[in-house]
Parts: sequence; structure tokens; C-alpha cells
Amino acid sequence: MNKSERIEELRNAIRAHNAEIDKINEELRPLEFEHEEEIEQKIKRCHRGLDKFTPEELVFAATTRCHCGAGLAYVKNCSPRSSWHCSEILLGTAIHAGLDSAKEHDGELPFIMYNIKSERQPSANGMTTRPNIQQAPEPSDSVDKK
Ligand SMILES: [Zn+2]
Repeated sequence: MNKSERIEELRNAIRAHNAEIDKINEELRPLEFEHEEEIEQKIKRCHRGLDKFTPEELVFAATTRCHCGAGLAYVKNCSPRSSWHCSEILLGTAIHAGLDSAKEHDGELPFIMYNIKSERQPSANGMTTRPNIQQAPEPSDSVDKK
């Protein structure tokens, strides 16, 4: 096979792969969109005190907090058009307006308007506003249990 035949063969291989990827995206994109919409609906319910996420479902801000003192957070796999919210609201632990001891919370902060560092960014250096969650100690083989 000469060089130009080999080039043509490789280009055809790329075209075949791209067609496969297009097919996968055709199924993936509507599913992603549907899931993002479900997340946004659930976030709206959280703001009305009717639903909650688990801490594992959230990404917390490295240092930025709501007026109430809780860290800001967003929901994993949310839409790129989503927002940061007070984590107490997403976790369902906020005391809602109208009740005694209700605290003032920031409104949602859209990603496109606010550049807030998350705990996932390498430059956060491990900083997080994630609340400390009591965890059972890890069983360790190196500890002599006599
Ligand atoms: Zn708050």
C-alpha cells in the first residue's frame, strides 16, 4: 500500500468512528437533558422545603458561604446553566422563612455570573465548606487489636 492509500484508509477509519460517536451522542444528549431538568425541578422543591439532596450528591464551594454561614453548593451532573445554592437549602436543613429562627439565605448564584471556586478544583488545595460528617473509623489492618 502506498502512502496516499494509507492516508485514505486512516481517514475512513476516523469517519467510521465519528459516525459511531454521533450515534452514542444521539442517545446520550436527550438523557442528559432530561436528567438535568429533573435536577432543576428537585432544586426548586428544595427551595420550597419539600425535598433534599444528600451531601454526596453535592459539590461544595471551597470557601464561599451563604449569609447564613453554610457553604454554597451545586448538584453533581446539573446543567451548565445551573447555579450555586445555599447548601442548607439543598440538604433540606434550612429553616424556612416564616418560622422562628429562620435565617436569611442568599438566592441562587448562576454559574455564568459567579465564578466561585469549588472543592474539586486543584487550586482549592483541599479547602471545602462541606460540613463535617461523623464517619465510623475505617477498619485498619495495621492496628493490632489485642
Ligand atoms: Zn443559607
